[in-house]
Amino acid sequence: MLESMLEYQKIDGKLVKIEKEITESNAKKVVNKMVGIVREAQQKIVQIEKNSNNLLDAFQKLQKSFEEQEKIANKFLKLKLETENEETLQNVETKLKQTTTNILVIEKTIAKLSKSITETLKQFELQKNEVLTAKKKHAQGMNVYKNLVEGKQAEVDKLKQDLQKLEKKVDQKLLAKYKKMRDDKIFPVFVPMINNTCSGCSMGLPVKQLHKLDEDKMLECENCHRIIYK
Ligand SMILES: [Zn+2]
Repeated sequence: MLESMLEYQKIDGKLVKIEKEITESNAKKVVNKMVGIVREAQQKIVQIEKNSNNLLDAFQKLQKSFEEQEKIANKFLKLKLETENEETLQNVETKLKQTTTNILVIEKTIAKLSKSITETLKQFELQKNEVLTAKKKHAQGMNVYKNLVEGKQAEVDKLKQDLQKLEKKVDQKLLAKYKKMRDDKIFPVFVPMINNTCSGCSMGLPVKQLHKLDEDKMLECENCHRIIYK
């Protein structure tokens, strides 16, 4: 009963090795890394878009107040100054000066804002290029990855066939337990007892457990839940 299960695990171990080769391959690492880079750049792009909307809002507001100040200035400039009295002239001069100052301040702010907008556009370009480069590398990595998987396909199919044949011979309860742990990425599931310890997790077995193992030939490890055999 245990023998065929161990044989099953041995064959499955070859599958595990291939799976590991594939998931830990350089191509897979490149693909994963590029996915991360694209995701990060996309988050940055969302932030940049928010920033540029804010900048655009600020720009439009400034443009509006610039136009308002310009209107005020034009109104004063249209006055027939020779017909106005001294007080009005004084008043107009003061207001005109104020308006000119306002316009200068607005112009300066607009210049600053333009700089920020240019900077934001640059950042956007940068992120966009980062995404393009990453997508290109991702595609290349995927190609290598696919080739790797395809190259192993025949071997994988053969191993799976062998496993299927063996599945009929093994104890179904043990097989179910095995498959569950295998799905949880635990391998090997069946481990020998070595020096009175579980060789899966190195935990020492209490005397009571050792007796049980002597009797049943198999024992579930209380620590890692692998099946210990003798
Ligand atoms: Zn254990």
